[in-house]
Amino acid sequence: MAESSGRLFVVAVPIGNLEDITLRALRVLREADVIACEDTRRTGQLLELLGLPRRPMFALHDHNEDRQSERLIARLEAGEKVALVSDAGTPTISDPGFPLIRAVAEAGLTVVPVPGPCAAIAALCASGLPTDRFRFVGFPPGKREAQRGMLEALQGAPETVVFYVGPHDLAEFLVLAAEVLGGARPAVIARELTKMYEELRRGTLAELAETPGVIRGEVVLLVGGAVVRDEAPTADDIASAARAVLAEGFTGARAAKELARRTGLGRDEAYRAVLSAREAE
Ligand code: SAM
Repeated sequence: MAESSGRLFVVAVPIGNLEDITLRALRVLREADVIACEDTRRTGQLLELLGLPRRPMFALHDHNEDRQSERLIARLEAGEKVALVSDAGTPTISDPGFPLIRAVAEAGLTVVPVPGPCAAIAALCASGLPTDRFRFVGFPPGKREAQRGMLEALQGAPETVVFYVGPHDLAEFLVLAAEVLGGARPAVIARELTKMYEELRRGTLAELAETPGVIRGEVVLLVGGAVVRDEAPTADDIASAARAVLAEGFTGARAAKELARRTGLGRDEAYRAVLSAREAE
């Protein structure tokens, strides 16, 4: 069988500022035979704002992606050009598209990336946190205990961690992250990137967790990785910091939290250090 000339283009679109559309994305969207998208209404509006003609559209979401993939593969096999877009940013990054792309690749058809905006990368590159290694974890799970488990698994990770967090969940998530990862970690709230109220708020996790007020809009939270020290703190260093915290009147979980904030220790380690310091009093 002759190789199909059909192509699946994975096209990034703006995350707020229309000027971030690339010249190539404009051409690919103009020339596409069909557009696979999350929400046909939103993509229709985007095409209109960009001055592009309407194309036939297929909505992809969790419930229909397998069925829609079969239909799209048939069109690719017939030699058509299919563009996959999200409502905003890069498809498949905390957005639909992965099952389609896997199915297209498995069918031996061509997948072409058309790179562009992605909130995680936009936030990371402007954060001032190390970018040489990072870990993207997307949205934290909804339940608090699952969030705690996920954060505990990240305790020793040395790379910058990038989360997508809903604005209403951010305050509570920051408190939990400070408790589990240690309040001394540097962190950045990157809000409304590329839009009118763009803001990058930097501080320690403890400082950001204490920030009062409501956070509105879309948010990426970045947290500096576990400190890999040239020399690990000695048991004496930890014991003396724990004694100082107790002497200042902190008790129990608050003492552990304060010790974690000062030393960068994880929550469990700090708690054990506080217990030993109290027993030795
Ligand atoms: N695929 C998209 C991308 O490439 O960034 C992400 C889609 S995900 C459903 C939406 C989340 O991305 C938001 O909840 C927020 O965490 C983040 N996000 C999207 N646009 C943003 C922006 N302009 N500023 C900050 N965060 C943004």
